[in-house]
Amino acid sequence: MSFSQEVKRELCAVPVEQTCDALSECYGILLFANLFRQNGIRIITGNTDLAERVARLFLCAFDLQVLPRRGAREERYVFEITKKSQIHRIFDAFGLDPHASGVRMNRAILEEDCCKTAFLRGAFLSGGSVAAPESRYHLEFVTPHYVFSTEMTAFLMDAEFQPKVTRRQSKYVLYFKSSEAIEDFLIQTGAPVSALAVMQAKVVKDVRNQINRHVNCETANISKTVDAAMAQVRAIRTLQADGRLYLQPRVIQEAAQLRMANPESSLSVLAASLDPPVSRATLSYRLKKLVALAKEGEELRGE
Ligand SMILES: [Zn+2]
Repeated sequence: MSFSQEVKRELCAVPVEQTCDALSECYGILLFANLFRQNGIRIITGNTDLAERVARLFLCAFDLQVLPRRGAREERYVFEITKKSQIHRIFDAFGLDPHASGVRMNRAILEEDCCKTAFLRGAFLSGGSVAAPESRYHLEFVTPHYVFSTEMTAFLMDAEFQPKVTRRQSKYVLYFKSSEAIEDFLIQTGAPVSALAVMQAKVVKDVRNQINRHVNCETANISKTVDAAMAQVRAIRTLQADGRLYLQPRVIQEAAQLRMANPESSLSVLAASLDPPVSRATLSYRLKKLVALAKEGEELRGE
């Protein structure tokens, strides 16, 4: 089951208690439905939970018993209302002019907070989807109606969400990408378990990023150490080959021997293994001296 389906299952389990909220939720569902006009209403869904909820909501909001038929594709449920009297009853309940055309939002029936919340739930159930939080944070509503998309944007802004709007083919997509906004939306509309899943995914991501940063940093340090040791080994070989190593003071020769015997050891380990031990800085200075000497020789030879 996708995360979107899980969210919808949770939202469909919210009890239908007040008529005002059943009406508002139906309004959200219908404004994002396949057809919402005086000459016909059609809701198509592949979601069994939603099909059951639509039947329950219609009964509570309009005292209408509507049952879905199975679509041409078996996994779909189709609610179809074509009777003039039934459509008028629905339009009346929303305070819509039965002769007006186009999908428009009547904010007058969405005054109370409970109704606004129910409307958002219906809108998401019908026209919304949300990405799995492990992959990305993205919640969207899709509608083909331009005017309604602007009304819905304004409604979301009033509910303190900050939707962005984009076109996808001939449709308008309202979306938000902030994990906090998605959590707020899910909690508000009645899906706290799904909201918790978003929070958990965020914690896992944060910890993973922290570990990655740490590992990258350590890897960078290790490769720096290895590069330095290899440069020292190369320099010592050069100095051995041209005989200049044996002209150096005893402590420098000693450092060279130590590095050649332990090409992979860190400076601190090498410094501590000298008898008597020296500081890391002292050994570093001696090894750098070897690298500088070899470089001088190369420059003299014009390499
Ligand atoms: Zn209400």
